[in-house]
Amino acid sequence: MNNSRRTFLITSIGVASTLALSRQAFADAPKVAESDPTALALGYKEDASKVDKAKYAKYVAGQDCGNCSFYQGKATDAYAPCPMFAGKQVASKGWCSAYNKKA
Ligand code: SF4
Repeated sequence: MNNSRRTFLITSIGVASTLALSRQAFADAPKVAESDPTALALGYKEDASKVDKAKYAKYVAGQDCGNCSFYQGKATDAYAPCPMFAGKQVASKGWCSAYNKKA
């Protein structure tokens, strides 16, 4: 095996295990509680239909984390990370006032 092929293989293995690790970390990340201070500040609800509509008049039915540009999962993922809640996962059916419709 020549050196560049060996380097390529070692790099590939490194990348693959890093991906596997971050996928694992992602699955283990705790879910955001509605009592979390950031959740309270942003009006986050696990169930978008429970959003305080009087307080958050910008909320429109049909908006949820799953169709927000900040949601870091696939539309089919029930929970995924969101940069508003570092190290935690939000519900795809959730909502917060930082909602931004995915283009
Ligand atoms: Fe959900 Fe978007 Fe708020 Fe994150 S920013 S919690 S994905 S609505």
